[in-house]
Amino acid sequence: MTAPGEILHTGAADYPGLDEWRNLPLKQQPDWRGHPDFDSSYEQLSSNPPLVFAGEVDKLKRRLAKVANGEAFLLQGGDCAETFDGVTADKISARVKTILQMAVVLTYGASLPVVKMGRMAGQYAKPRSSDMETRGDVTLPAFRGEIVNGYDFTEESRIPDPKRMVEAYNKSASTLNLIRAFTEGGFADLRAVQQWNKGFMENPAHAKYEQIAGEIDRAVRFMEACGADFEGLKRTEFYSAHEALLLDYERALTRIDSRTGQPYVTSGHFVWIGERTRELDGAHMDYLSRVQNPVGVKLGPNTTAETVLEIIEKLDPNREPGRLTFISRMGAANIREKLPALVETVRDSGAKVVWVTDPMHGNTITAKNGYKTRRFDDVMDEVRGFFEVHQAAGTYPGGLHVEMTGDDVAECLGGSDEIDENAFDERYETLVDPRLNHKQSLEMAFLVAEALKPVK
Ligand code: PEP
Ligand code: MN
Repeated sequence: MTAPGEILHTGAADYPGLDEWRNLPLKQQPDWRGHPDFDSSYEQLSSNPPLVFAGEVDKLKRRLAKVANGEAFLLQGGDCAETFDGVTADKISARVKTILQMAVVLTYGASLPVVKMGRMAGQYAKPRSSDMETRGDVTLPAFRGEIVNGYDFTEESRIPDPKRMVEAYNKSASTLNLIRAFTEGGFADLRAVQQWNKGFMENPAHAKYEQIAGEIDRAVRFMEACGADFEGLKRTEFYSAHEALLLDYERALTRIDSRTGQPYVTSGHFVWIGERTRELDGAHMDYLSRVQNPVGVKLGPNTTAETVLEIIEKLDPNREPGRLTFISRMGAANIREKLPALVETVRDSGAKVVWVTDPMHGNTITAKNGYKTRRFDDVMDEVRGFFEVHQAAGTYPGGLHVEMTGDDVAECLGGSDEIDENAFDERYETLVDPRLNHKQSLEMAFLVAEALKPVK
């Protein structure tokens, strides 16, 4: 994936401004600077090789510039929170496979290239609504993702441990290694992906997608009959993304690219700022304003049009296409009311951003039996609302950001192959937010493809 000369990076120890975030309000971090292992963990990360290379990051930015221009579609998918135990060949391949399957369906629906990106190889840090968690009469620090502390509800496990940052780096390196092998080594062959989709269609619950599945199948066979270059179609680009929440980790993995002399976060290709840490004068905004990666910002239902313009000014002052992605997460009940003003304001300002819908985080509910869940129908309703808003504004709905897995879990309610809450006791695995399972993810792709077809 890299050309000669692209892999040379140096540390960013004295780069001007990169440490300004340390003087700014900083939310959602563990208090671990005094920990005896903090300095050695930080130094270890600082001298480790980059996980991704500046040349790849620049290429992704060019791909996202196409999305901003309405010439490609973006699919971001993966766990809410990756886990160290989840770094197995089976689980990683199932997730990559599901994203590739979704991408084929979306490519057909949109008649456009799909930029594929996993919430993978670094999605280990979680923001929490409260610093502490109480169960019965015991109160302990909240779980902040396995890069910070353990999920088990014991004092020992919940104490933040900086060595976990090194472990997260190592797990991310193995994950990326496998992703690169899969996507370069034949696993992503379009014909294989189409065979997997046929497996999905064998379930009578999915008969309603027969027409579109048949059309995709004919298109693939047509290409084959024409002698299309299947060597080229065996490989695909696949990018990594995570929330840049834990700034000690991001800072330690920042490198200066020798070609351009510019800083890059090398923990992943694309990083985003979450809804809880996107204050304009806060540490996260400042830090990401100083690196070259394409960046995302989550926008919840209380976001104002002024804020959106200020974020553009802060993160994309040069109006560089592909640099900035807005990931709206309004909730199905709000999107048709709240998103139009934001989209219209950005449109009228002349700025070119990528607009993506995250139909998960505004639709979280608690099931009767206590599990945190989301209804498939609410998720789809938000996606439809997103397309409607963009169609009305004459702007481009650039993509989807979903919490999903390739496994047969039961965490979200509904879908044609109906999941109900009775299944949660057996098949609920997520440590934080509920994910679409394999079938629900593919079903979403078919529904989105149907929604895209008439407007293309
Ligand atoms: C997330 O993406 O898992 C998340 C915490 O999202 P948000 O910042 O939109 O709440
Ligand atoms: Mn989440």
